[in-house]
Amino acid sequence: MSQPVEKILQKKYIDKDDIRLLLSLAPAVSAGLFKHSHEVKTLQVGRKVFFRGLIEYSNICTKNCFYCGIRKDNQRYSRYTLSDEEVLEAALYAYENNFASIVIQSGEQSSKAFTHTIDGLLRKIHKETKGQLHVTLSLGEQTEDTYKRWYDAGAHRYLLRIEVSNPALYAKLHPDDLRHTHKARLEALSLLRKSGYQVGTGVMIGLPFQTISDLADDLCFFRDLDIDMVGMGPYVEHEDTPLWEYRNLIPPVADRVDLSIKMVAILRIIMPDINIAATTALQTLDSNGREKAIYAGANVIMPNLTPVKYRDNYLLYENKPNVKDQPDETRKSLEKNIRAAGDEIGYGEWGDSRHYKNRSSEIAK
Ligand code: SAH
Ligand code: SF4
Repeated sequence: MSQPVEKILQKKYIDKDDIRLLLSLAPAVSAGLFKHSHEVKTLQVGRKVFFRGLIEYSNICTKNCFYCGIRKDNQRYSRYTLSDEEVLEAALYAYENNFASIVIQSGEQSSKAFTHTIDGLLRKIHKETKGQLHVTLSLGEQTEDTYKRWYDAGAHRYLLRIEVSNPALYAKLHPDDLRHTHKARLEALSLLRKSGYQVGTGVMIGLPFQTISDLADDLCFFRDLDIDMVGMGPYVEHEDTPLWEYRNLIPPVADRVDLSIKMVAILRIIMPDINIAATTALQTLDSNGREKAIYAGANVIMPNLTPVKYRDNYLLYENKPNVKDQPDETRKSLEKNIRAAGDEIGYGEWGDSRHYKNRSSEIAK
């Protein structure tokens, strides 16, 4: 490891300039960084990876984010919503296979009917799994009442990516209207914390117009917000979106993968006890991407449990992997790869963020 890098890694507080330097390391010399973050992970959260079974509930979305394949104006996909039975079947698969935890994700909807259905589903899942299956929601921006209602119905965690922490960049990636504001996204994150959830956020890496300095700010943002969980991965271009036009401005695939792994490694070092996901987008660009992220510091993985017949219509980005794999195949191959990397799967454990637990016990003191 070069001397400046070693010096940074020994610091008590790694600041934004240090992070910029680490993010700029050439791939050939980043091995030292990954080795260090791997040691931090081993020491702080152990060598366990937790499964969150992913249920892609509906691809109906009222928003029009410029990067996303299922944006409202994209006519290519037929729109679907899973039935209660389909959601329950997937949840029970997770329960019976000891995943201990699921994520329900969807395009953003806020009708009364939607709010009510999710409430009912949460209660059914709680009942059928005797309160043993933890539920994370990833259903976009909602009102404080809705967040509270779903929390009371049994949801424990909520994922809402800030997408990019720089408000000017956020404005370039979204329509200029009141439904797509950076301010509302920030407010939603604070409402979620207030409502009692373990809160997760995240960003996309390698977007057009995004700089290394933006990415360093993103990591500082997670730290300033004292976030419990992070899911971040590379931006993957999609032909049916407005951002496709700027595809020549994004870093090549190998660089986006390398940057994403570095973001995971640095985050593990600056926030040692949070949960960090190895995302599917990473696997899209590199078949070994998730395993690399796990080595560098990630400790959560989200195997897809959406019924296979719907998956072709939930393409947030192109070339999404495993769209044809049945849950059993996915589980077995993940098991094999995680064990080969020397980690074990935290079957039967909720795998709550230690950061959240530590913070809650601080407050109780
Ligand atoms: N509608 C909800 C949840 C579904 S979208 C929400 O927006 O919060 C989940 C995530 O997919 C988004 O937060 C975004 O970061 C990611 N995503 C969308 N399009 C993407 C793309 N082209 N490449 C990589 N990630 C993308
Ligand atoms: Fe809808 Fe989420 Fe995609 Fe934005 S990122 S268009 S809110 S599904």
